[in-house]
Amino acid sequence: MAEQVVIIGSGPAGWSAAIYAARAELQPLVFEGAITEENRLSGTLPLGQLALTTEVENYAGFPAGDLESYLDKAIAPARRQLMPPHSKHGVSGPELMELMRQQASNFGTRIVTDDIVHVDFTSRPFKLTASSGQTTEAHAVIVATGAKANYLGLPSEDAYKNRGVSACAVCDGALPRFRNKPLAVVGGGDSAVEEASYLSKFASRVYLVHRRDELRASKIMAQRALTNPKIEPVWNHALEEVLGTDQHGVTGVRLKSTVDGKLHEREATGVFLAIGHTPNTAFLKDQLELTSKGYIKLTVPFRTNTSVPGVFAAGDVTDDYYRQAITSAGTGCMAALDAERFLADEQGH
Ligand code: NAP
Repeated sequence: MAEQVVIIGSGPAGWSAAIYAARAELQPLVFEGAITEENRLSGTLPLGQLALTTEVENYAGFPAGDLESYLDKAIAPARRQLMPPHSKHGVSGPELMELMRQQASNFGTRIVTDDIVHVDFTSRPFKLTASSGQTTEAHAVIVATGAKANYLGLPSEDAYKNRGVSACAVCDGALPRFRNKPLAVVGGGDSAVEEASYLSKFASRVYLVHRRDELRASKIMAQRALTNPKIEPVWNHALEEVLGTDQHGVTGVRLKSTVDGKLHEREATGVFLAIGHTPNTAFLKDQLELTSKGYIKLTVPFRTNTSVPGVFAAGDVTDDYYRQAITSAGTGCMAALDAERFLADEQGH
């Protein structure tokens, strides 16, 4: 029997879609992603980008406060045990995602902890294949697979991944190799200043390497980073090479001035890339129309329709502009309502 709605992805868009679809009695099935080393390295583990951040201060409904006892009561004990201690600042990204997952599950959402690696949208019902080989048929699909952090593509970056090169300070920043040592963060957006601020808790110094002389980050976050005594901006420079040895992993960075091309080196035991994101659409192959930047193209204004009727998309996989947790959650809700109406029209009720 084909599923009514399958949701691929487990960030704010995926869980919001699941909550709405479950309450509409569509019995949604969510493929939340697989827990693998490959997904860890590429930043595509279940629960999405928010699970890789710290405090979430801009998601409406979570002012600063102590959520401890609420988390204890709201989250299933087996998962609560695995969560880091509550910071008492409001809500963290991982906490917000666990709460959304639990809420979707409470309304009857079924969850498979695996990646969808292949889709066939050429005929109905649609066919989805998971990495385990399991195939699932669905009358409607919501793609909410988000986006992953970019790397520069330097051979030296690849050589030291897991040995000092990372795109996730929250995942890796507390490792012993980064404690009380100088570190470099590359980028000038919100992610870069957030990573730099987070790493400043552990590092002796954080070089914030940006190719221009002005940050792209929001004013409040930029200000916080620039007034942090441990963070030193290195303006107008690009990362030319990650320096290191087989024995020690990363030992420094070679930077190139974007003004006069001059090279210089700095000591660092870690390099954190925060230079934007790429949408997770590779598994779609040529099944959906994409934009020139590789995001899923939405074909109807203010709706979540894609180029294939019955396939809807929500969250960062469609969005190279807003990319906020709350906008993703909003479009997840829209996708569930669009799917519900599509199925009602198709099935005549
Ligand atoms: P972003 O805003 O696109 O910034 C990417 C940064 O990387 C830019 O400063 C860019 O430089 C630089 N960059 C890109 N390609 C580069 C390259 N090849 N070499 C060197 N530098 C390069 O990406 P983001 O910081 O990941 O943020 C993405 C979205 O998430 C934004 O909408 C942001 O507001 C949101 N976000 C929000 C929060 C929060 O509110 N707490 C936290 C993180 C992210 P240029 O400036 O020169 O283009």
